[in-house]
Amino acid sequence: LGMPDVPTRLADRRKSRQIQVGSVAVGGDAPVSVQSMTTTRTSDIGATLQQIAELTASGCQIVRVACPTQDDADALATIARKSQIPVIADIHFQPKYVFAAIDAGCAAVRVNPGNIKQFDDKVKEIAKAASAAGVPIRIGVNAGSLDRRLLEKYGKATPEALVESALWEASLFEEHGFRDIKISVKHNDPVVMVNAYRLLAQKCDYPLHLGVTEAGPAFQGTIKSAVAFGALLAEGIGDTIRVSLSAPPAEEVKVGIQILESLNLRQRRLEIVSCPSCGRAQVDVYKLADEVSAGLEGMEVPLRVAVMGCVVNGPGEAREADLGVASGNGKGQIFVKGEVIKTVPESKIVETLIEEALKIAETMQADGVMS
Ligand code: SF4
Repeated sequence: LGMPDVPTRLADRRKSRQIQVGSVAVGGDAPVSVQSMTTTRTSDIGATLQQIAELTASGCQIVRVACPTQDDADALATIARKSQIPVIADIHFQPKYVFAAIDAGCAAVRVNPGNIKQFDDKVKEIAKAASAAGVPIRIGVNAGSLDRRLLEKYGKATPEALVESALWEASLFEEHGFRDIKISVKHNDPVVMVNAYRLLAQKCDYPLHLGVTEAGPAFQGTIKSAVAFGALLAEGIGDTIRVSLSAPPAEEVKVGIQILESLNLRQRRLEIVSCPSCGRAQVDVYKLADEVSAGLEGMEVPLRVAVMGCVVNGPGEAREADLGVASGNGKGQIFVKGEVIKTVPESKIVETLIEEALKIAETMQADGVMS
């Protein structure tokens, strides 16, 4: 009879239009991309490019830079040219910087409808310039800067208010035949945010940029984002994600990648399957898991490594992994594909696992199994 097929993903992706942010396709059948935002002054070109290089190394695919002043706008051309990944200019308040960003060769521009004064009059010109340059626009609605008219109408930043703001803004662009748009409707409350994106997903086919705004420090922000993105991505909603943390942006990228890997929206790379430890543990599981993680960091092959605290459940739990260890009596049983291949003293567990992992990685690379 066999086992029923386990779905590898929780849902089909929502069908969205596809836009092109520089070299990265967003929406349609393009993989969900991970983005972040620099924290440097954009006018400090060296520091900004340095941070973009770090973000690129951490797996960031699209980077956004703030553009609050003329000096920042003046820096965009060099940054856009030298960045290894597409650069999006983030514009509040001044439409003139939207034109500057398009001229500077930015891959996209983010505008905040609630914040751009006299924006309505400028839409036609912006649509014309963006269209001529092939530059998409992100309509980025934020609960904290919602249009006053909508705040009055709804009393606060409800999902309906966020969505109405975004779709109204999109309609202004549509009037000029411009549909090269992606949308975000961010809120700091994951429940409001999830409901806003669900509503938005029903009402349009634009690609959606997910974000929980002001999610907080790393621990809280990671959980809020994982819960909110998880709920939406599990329903197939979301084409690109930005985790917002009060932490270095490379941390946001790590969290974003991990969320996508957890949902099989991206091939998993190194995955440590470690037990929580319990009264049966005969080794310090936390320390061992940390040492194995550190030793294998940066491996690019999809490898599941099980770290189990005892031999009671260890071998069974490790069987699904590519490689594993079950500890007991000062020794570690090393497993490859569920078979014990050797038993080593506790002090040799980490180096043996690393050695075996490298052997498996080599075989995988030879077989072309790369992430
Ligand atoms: Fe406890 Fe052993 Fe399971 Fe770890 S593998 S949780 S030590 S029973």
